[in-house]
Amino acid sequence: MDALAIKNIIIGILIFDFLTERILDYLNIKNLSAALPNNVANVYDVTEYQKSQSYQKEKEKIEQFQSYFQFALYIILLTQGYLGGLYDAVAAAIANSPSLSTYSFYASNLIFFGILFIASDILSTPFAWYNTFVIEEKYGFNKSTIKLFVMDKIKGYLLAIIIGGIVISLLLFLIQSLGTSFWWIFWGIISVLIICLNMFYTSLLLPLFNKLTPLGDGELKNAIHAYCIKENFPVDNIYIMDGSKRSNKANAFFSGFGKKKKIVLFDTLVEQHSIPELIAILAHEAGHFKKKHIIQMMVLSVFQIGVYLFLLSLLVENKNLSIALGAQTNSIALNLIGFGLLFSPVSTVTGILVNLLSRKNEYEADAFAAQTSSAADLSIALKNLSKKSLSNLTPHNAYVFVHYSHPPVTQRLEAMGIK
Ligand SMILES: [Zn+2]
Repeated sequence: MDALAIKNIIIGILIFDFLTERILDYLNIKNLSAALPNNVANVYDVTEYQKSQSYQKEKEKIEQFQSYFQFALYIILLTQGYLGGLYDAVAAAIANSPSLSTYSFYASNLIFFGILFIASDILSTPFAWYNTFVIEEKYGFNKSTIKLFVMDKIKGYLLAIIIGGIVISLLLFLIQSLGTSFWWIFWGIISVLIICLNMFYTSLLLPLFNKLTPLGDGELKNAIHAYCIKENFPVDNIYIMDGSKRSNKANAFFSGFGKKKKIVLFDTLVEQHSIPELIAILAHEAGHFKKKHIIQMMVLSVFQIGVYLFLLSLLVENKNLSIALGAQTNSIALNLIGFGLLFSPVSTVTGILVNLLSRKNEYEADAFAAQTSSAADLSIALKNLSKKSLSNLTPHNAYVFVHYSHPPVTQRLEAMGIK
């Protein structure tokens, strides 16, 4: 396929994608005015329901604005060939630099990615800022401060530079030394990395952003232990995480495998729910383990990455991708971006399939929780979570089908027999 055809296909994909999202957004916003669903009526009153609707509307508005902005930006970059132009300029500057020219392959690709990373971060930060300090603030969720926001940014940058830098350098090295057969070695390394990140997330990454305190003795700890013993569910440690330093929103999760599993409860979750509700939430999470969802999702993503890398190996050296993005020279970095854009419909479709599976898993975990703790407790916990987080009670089915990894709360309640 020649470069012009590739460029036109990419632009076509972007337009199609943009228009589909607008239709989904339109349907979703229209559905917001629906009446309060029956099965949550006992925890919501009219004011709270209206508050959740206006919160959803405001969030949707800023997301829409951001997606208009991004779409316009992509179209300009592509039609004008600015991405390729930028790469050519970086490569030329490096070729002229006596200290960098010996490493020109790595330097030009890495610096180019670095510039894109910083530019896209600068462009998206105002949206993140507005979301945290205007919308979340207005609805009483925000607990973050400017200092914390900036510190999170700096830590995020450092992590991106270290992890991203290593992964991209490795990819470049393998492509340069092995050609198109780079993919299966890189696949192996990435798979190990994903498994390690999963195993050490709570002990290595999370403490960079939050403080974890072992849960102290008391009623909650006894109740959790009793549940874990009853269900033969070995747990290594239970932590309370200071989620309240950023937001009032609550969450809980498990990490690790086998006997080394850790439970992390947000302090906000513990404050906002009764002990039976907390046990029901834990039982839901335990259900994901017992039903092997965690392993299943991990195997699936490793498999997916393998397929992508194989497809990438077919195109990574195709100069026409670089030319389609506006460059004169062949660049691995541009070919990676071109590949990502060209195959975005494939990732949209796999995303939909993964969401479908994930929603099925959520029902299974709910059923497990209902069986091993109590459907009544879980339903109260779900209703309270939904009320406190002002979640969308009436998302449109088409929007759910494409974007939701969890079924809407009313459908989860319905599946538990709560009409
Ligand atoms: Zn779940």
